[in-house]
Amino acid sequence: MPPIPGSGLAKGLAVTLRTMTKKTVTEQYPDVQPELPPRTRGVIGLFEENCTVCMLCARECPDWCIYIDSHKETVPAAAPGGRERSRNVLDRFAIDFSLCMYCGICIEVCPFDALFWSPEFEYSETDIRDLTHERDKLREWMWTVPAPPALDPGAEEPKELAAARKTADKLVAQREAAEQKAAEREAAEQEAAEREAAPRDTARPEQEGRE
Ligand code: SF4
Ligand code: SF4
Repeated sequence: MPPIPGSGLAKGLAVTLRTMTKKTVTEQYPDVQPELPPRTRGVIGLFEENCTVCMLCARECPDWCIYIDSHKETVPAAAPGGRERSRNVLDRFAIDFSLCMYCGICIEVCPFDALFWSPEFEYSETDIRDLTHERDKLREWMWTVPAPPALDPGAEEPKELAAARKTADKLVAQREAAEQKAAEREAAEQEAAEREAAPRDTARPEQEGRE
């Protein structure tokens, strides 16, 4: 059957009308920043203070794009007669984001919470070598890491928190007991001083009467 003249035009207009009434999904980036999901994988931030240079992240990275250098330092014994200890000191921590595939394995395996996802994504470079972010830059990304979501109020308390609370309660009880003991000692001393002063006060009028 031959097509009805003008049917193509009508179909096109119908599509146009349908689209006009739909909500637009076009992101006006870079004029408008996109609204990213909270767990966006943009860039990796390093919280250096938590890093013990255990090398787990570098070993597990499938792209071998984490570079870590360190040296050992001897820490003197904490108490006399104790043993000296050695600890790793971080010299270099870098991630090559031109190789990284954003799998998140390094963040998952870090046992000391030293690596975090940041949603920042605007770090394109014209020179590929600049995509290797050294420790200072990785630390800077930490400022852009979102706060962790609030805990579920019905969740079981983590055992670390329970242990910390128990220690804090014990310390508070010890301090209160020490304060109470000090107050009792002070009261006893004051009472003794008053008792010592009392006979002298009563003896004086008797002495004055005899005179
Ligand atoms: S996200 Fe994956 S590829 Fe990127 S540095 Fe971490 S482990 Fe390596
Ligand atoms: S796994 Fe964590 S603690 Fe170990 S070297 Fe990597 S960032 Fe540091």
